[in-house]
Amino acid sequence: MSVNATIPPRSRERVAPLVACSECDALYAMAALPEGAVACCRRCGAVLYRGRRGTVERARALLAAALPLWAVANFLPFMTLDYEGREQGSTLLSGALALWQAGHGLLAAAVFLVMFLIPTVRLLAALWVLDPLARGRPRPASARVFREVERLHPWAMTEVYLLGVLVAWVKLRDLAEVHLGPALFAFVGVIVLLAAAEAVLEPLEVWQRLQPQARGDPGRLAASRNWSACDACRQLVRLPSTTPGVVLHCPRCEAVLHRRRPYAMARAWALLVAATALYVPANLLPVMRVTWFGRGEPDTILAGVRQLIETGMWPLAALVFFASMVVPVLKILGLALLLLSVHLRSRLRPRERTRLYRVVEAVGRWSMIDVFMIAILTALVGVGQVASIEPGRGATAFALVVILTMLASHSFDPRLIWDAVGTDHGRSPERP
Ligand SMILES: [Zn+2]
Ligand SMILES: [Zn+2]
Repeated sequence: MSVNATIPPRSRERVAPLVACSECDALYAMAALPEGAVACCRRCGAVLYRGRRGTVERARALLAAALPLWAVANFLPFMTLDYEGREQGSTLLSGALALWQAGHGLLAAAVFLVMFLIPTVRLLAALWVLDPLARGRPRPASARVFREVERLHPWAMTEVYLLGVLVAWVKLRDLAEVHLGPALFAFVGVIVLLAAAEAVLEPLEVWQRLQPQARGDPGRLAASRNWSACDACRQLVRLPSTTPGVVLHCPRCEAVLHRRRPYAMARAWALLVAATALYVPANLLPVMRVTWFGRGEPDTILAGVRQLIETGMWPLAALVFFASMVVPVLKILGLALLLLSVHLRSRLRPRERTRLYRVVEAVGRWSMIDVFMIAILTALVGVGQVASIEPGRGATAFALVVILTMLASHSFDPRLIWDAVGTDHGRSPERP
């Protein structure tokens, strides 16, 4: 059976709207913040909400400006390579297409998804929600759509793609003349506008406008323990006392409610083990084969970094080394540490462990730089008589490592760290 849960009823006295920390479940009474101020969780230090005025209207304007630029970025020439007496043009989507034509379907699909399809869907869906909301007339499905917009956030990798373009451009400058097309400048414009929209938009404000946060006394509600915060929209929901077999849905966004993410540990372990196993072929197999005047050898990720050092590109070598070698190891070790500590019900340094979780969540997507670079090089150089660049099987293994570790960190529930520590519900958040 599937039912919509109810929000805690308003008590007779004037009570403040409530918000639960999404990382440690501490309950707080919300207070109005001055513009630019941030309310943080006293227990784990997570950002609870930010003081923003006109957040929906400003974000809508920025996203609306990004839309025509995104169309330009996708349809006009992106980069042109002048070599062997011919010009090889490319559009934004050429990378994914070239990988497909080279027989790397899985890799092509992953690149197409994270650099084109998901960013496009997110941009359109966010505008679909924010535009009527700014005019005070939210659509009935707005909450469900906004839930997906938020969920897809880490998977829209336009800014990571831009860094991949930068690395590819530096590598190609030695080989031939590279002309930057209008689509590249439009693409940079889109990234700037999306980042600005991200900075001004306070998701909790959007949720509040769709349906206000439940009100109550945080101390009393915390003590009763029969509540849950929606994982997707952070609405506080009173749970019925005994409901075996009943699936409860959030009254605001309709997401399925859980006190903790289901099978968080088992799922995270399984994904982590799979990612660790793939990390070996990802580093041993060549990620691409570069042939120059008939001579060439397969390149591994490490060989790519060495090549950048040899050509004096130190900052770029450091960037690729960090994103492709350090970050995956850091993620695998960090997640293993978090999972083990929860298994052992450790009470040691929960705040630091939550911070580690935050870092693992944030850095994961940047490892895709190398995959994007390979896609762009394959599209621009392809298989020619003088030079040819083909993707290797290591690239697919590497992309899978990135995706699996991202899925593993999303499966993990940071509130499990705090379950061993016990409850402590502060009434007013911290303002750093
Ligand atoms: Zn917290
Ligand atoms: Zn919800």
